Amino acid sequence: MRVPAHFSTTIVTTENNCRQGVNCHLPDCFCSTLEHPLNRKEIPQMVFFGFDDAVNPESVQHYDFLFGRNRYNPNGCPISATLYISHQNTKYDIVKKYYDRGFEVAVHSVSHTNIDTYTKVMEEARDQRNNIATLAGVPIEEIVGWRSPNLFTAGDAQVTALQNLGYTYDISLSHRKLNMDDRDMWPFTLDYGCQGLSKCPKQKHKGFWQIPVNMVVWKKEQVCVYVDGCYKQPNNTDEAYNFIMDNFKRYYDGNRAPFGINMHMAWFYRPYTREGMDRAIQDMLKYNDVYIVTAKQMLQWMKNPTNLSQIMHFKDWDCNEENRRKREKGRKSKYFFWGEVVIVAVILSCLAVVVVYWVISKQGKQYTSLQPIATADEYTDGDI
Ligand SMILES: [Zn+2]
Repeated sequence: MRVPAHFSTTIVTTENNCRQGVNCHLPDCFCSTLEHPLNRKEIPQMVFFGFDDAVNPESVQHYDFLFGRNRYNPNGCPISATLYISHQNTKYDIVKKYYDRGFEVAVHSVSHTNIDTYTKVMEEARDQRNNIATLAGVPIEEIVGWRSPNLFTAGDAQVTALQNLGYTYDISLSHRKLNMDDRDMWPFTLDYGCQGLSKCPKQKHKGFWQIPVNMVVWKKEQVCVYVDGCYKQPNNTDEAYNFIMDNFKRYYDGNRAPFGINMHMAWFYRPYTREGMDRAIQDMLKYNDVYIVTAKQMLQWMKNPTNLSQIMHFKDWDCNEENRRKREKGRKSKYFFWGEVVIVAVILSCLAVVVVYWVISKQGKQYTSLQPIATADEYTDGDI
């Protein structure tokens, strides 16, 4: 996908000497910024869910409830999410099932402890990726994202270790809002260092993506890293729905930075919070410029920014042919089914009319023909 021409001249930020299109070029380099060079009205609003920790039968019921009910983005592909998976209590056959359905599978360590050195990051990121590859059968090259347990990072050593292992992004650093109305950050590469995030790496790391964990705002009173992490929590479905949608609208009506919904299973402990999120997803999908994608898909757009007018043809978001065929078949059989129903109904109606007409006319004939004969017989055999 060709990068829009004006990208070559737009300066995104000068705070760290990163100049987009001058000394930083897509798809491998993107300056940290609060405003994307594209006109915001041309930017698809990306929403990406990041679920942390174990994947097991308990989590399945919730993921299936939200994502397993034939929900599609405007391009006709199923909505999806990213799973940041730690080892303990994970059932890898379930991981495989979600990978096959188009979820992104990423790494959240083996031990789920604070990981603070190069060696520990190397071990944990390598071993958990191997677990997912060998036990869930996910191709190792497909596993490219890392989230640190407790968002506790090892600074530059972490980025170096992840890059040495072939990871392409980290999503462990939060962007703290100083004011409730502060804009949210776009993902960026560390080619010219890092700014605006908590515990930023100090050095430059060429071509490595940092996805900021932008904070969610609770009723303009409180900011939280995870949606289930605010000390004030929704008390009913409406509050849960409004919490998600208020944050969504801040992005949608604001700078159109990707809206990350980072969360744990704790969100699902109260049934009404799941209901609220379900309603929010349904409402987001009513927009024709909103896409619920994985973090990896979101980065594919970052590398190849594509206008809304072209987004239907954006290859990196196209689901595979097999899925597309299944959907087409599903649509055809749906139309075929209703077509069949209509045809059968018409035939049955016609038959019913013919039968009724025939019965009436038959009865009529019998009535008119038998009556006189019977009468005649009666008259013949009877009194006459
Ligand atoms: Zn965790």
